[in-house]
Amino acid sequence: MKSKVYFIDFHTTFQRNIFDKIDDALDRAEFNTVYREYDKVAVKMHFGAENNFGVINPRYVRYFVNRLLALDTKPFLVDTNTLYAGHRVNSIDHLNLAVRHGYAPSVVNAPVIIADGLKGQSEEVVPIDTKETKKAFIGSDIHHADAILALTHLTGHMETGFGAAIKNLGMGCASRRGKLAMHSVSKPTVNRERCIGCARCAQWCQVNAIEIKDGKAHIDEKTCTGCSMCLSVCPFTAIKIHWDSSHDYINAKITEYAYAVAKHKKDKIFFVNFLNNITKLCDCVSIHGEQLVPDIGILFSKDIVAVDRASIDLLNEAAGRNILKKLFPDIEWEDTFSYAEKLGMGSIDYELVKIK
Ligand code: SF4
Ligand code: SF4
Repeated sequence: MKSKVYFIDFHTTFQRNIFDKIDDALDRAEFNTVYREYDKVAVKMHFGAENNFGVINPRYVRYFVNRLLALDTKPFLVDTNTLYAGHRVNSIDHLNLAVRHGYAPSVVNAPVIIADGLKGQSEEVVPIDTKETKKAFIGSDIHHADAILALTHLTGHMETGFGAAIKNLGMGCASRRGKLAMHSVSKPTVNRERCIGCARCAQWCQVNAIEIKDGKAHIDEKTCTGCSMCLSVCPFTAIKIHWDSSHDYINAKITEYAYAVAKHKKDKIFFVNFLNNITKLCDCVSIHGEQLVPDIGILFSKDIVAVDRASIDLLNEAAGRNILKKLFPDIEWEDTFSYAEKLGMGSIDYELVKIK
């Protein structure tokens, strides 16, 4: 049977505003059946890099939070820390950035939580039996949530071709160790020019893989487990990540991590994809990217595969061509859909229901 994906465009009138349309779409998509009283609902977001304006407008977020509150659930906004240095690398900077971008509790009507804790190490290990992953490392507070509302902004992506709901769950819910496992197939090393030999990393390494030699840190590749703690604690960004995963590998890993996130939340996740401000690069970049196409609309579904497939089809339709193929000719991003379907995450076959 085809999965249903509900679609609204951004056209509104004085008689019917965008929230009237969202309400109708949520009702038709049976949003209320996903959540029940007392559920702690992780509203999975991306708060955007500094100077990036593509992210979902906080007023929309407040609206979804209010729909959840009306069901007597306990929603909270959530994301995880980044692997790389920046304004989202630890909970303190990340929460401050979220507030600067308008995701303050007074605006969105819910608290904001960084799921993998202060330094990105608060994680749960989820065993799965997939091609590339046997253990997935998921941010604790997402893993322990009763349900998820994935609010996703569609973008292009230089590593994966596109970023949508599968990436929001897969990469976006992973702890730092999980993100390192997706991005890198080799162990971290030390940038000797940056390292001042303070030994902070060595103190935190649980397996004693770091030694200070000649005033610089040195990582023993054989002992290192890739836990990423040294990345978190070095204040001088002297630990180097090797971004050496292939496009195919990273897409497979992201899909497997999304599978791991959903594993204990059967029928407890709802997906909303925003197709506006669509740029070639993702919301992790600190630039205000040029829009690829005029704003398209918002999609709603219980099926993660269908909602992402429909998002790309609508993007291509608006562009009048296979725009991601043109932008990223070397990335086989369509394999993500077939692999996700093979894992039983959803269906590529969908019916688009347009709501006026
Ligand atoms: S924490 Fe950073 S600067 Fe200090 S020894 Fe380790 S790598 Fe070098
Ligand atoms: S990644 Fe973890 S195990 Fe490897 S050196 Fe850093 S702290 Fe130690």
